Amino acid sequence: MNIIDHPSPNFDDRPAGKTLDMLILHYTGMRTAAESLARLGDPMAKVSAHYLIDEDGTLYRLVDETKRAWHAGVSHWANETDINSCSLGIELQNPGHEFGYRAFPKAQLSALSDLCADILSRHAILAERILGHSDVAPSRKKDPGELFDWRGLAAAGIGRLPEKTASAHTMDDDEARASLTMIGYDPGAPLGIILTAFQRHYRQTNIDGQLDAETAGLIRALTG
Ligand SMILES: [Zn+2]
Repeated sequence: MNIIDHPSPNFDDRPAGKTLDMLILHYTGMRTAAESLARLGDPMAKVSAHYLIDEDGTLYRLVDETKRAWHAGVSHWANETDINSCSLGIELQNPGHEFGYRAFPKAQLSALSDLCADILSRHAILAERILGHSDVAPSRKKDPGELFDWRGLAAAGIGRLPEKTASAHTMDDDEARASLTMIGYDPGAPLGIILTAFQRHYRQTNIDGQLDAETAGLIRALTG
């Protein structure tokens, strides 16, 4: 694995008592990797990530894994609201929904898969704690988005997806809310917002925020 060091000043120390046990995937939402690297290294921007992977698979290290990079912002997962302190952040170069969202190329996904495997060999990170930014900040973020190949990553043993064959199910809003909270989603965000984030990760063919039978079946499959 070839890593190009491109240090960012945007980090601080991980607070004592926090365990590094999450991996958060992002897209940059900028037109080019050069623009992304500039922003993620700009002290005025106050944002960063541990790694950035360009569309051709070039891998950059911006922040040392022992340090707290500033990638998640205001976020929530399973009662944790300081996601930066307990996670690693990986940015994938992609213009994002604002500038021409497009599929993540094979070379980029292959580099990501190798990097994740390497990270998982060094840190105890459970499959269900490998998440998208939109999972932990559903009211603010869409990345890495519905074109991101979570299934391909899961096939490489990275992350957790329900079986493709999860059967349809019905549940009411209260049950859906309780189940989504159990999975880790922010209980303080509106249900439609959480369902949208859930679909972006687990039911990418239709992102409408509705509690249909397929979505309910997938929620049940993740909590059952
Ligand atoms: Zn992000």
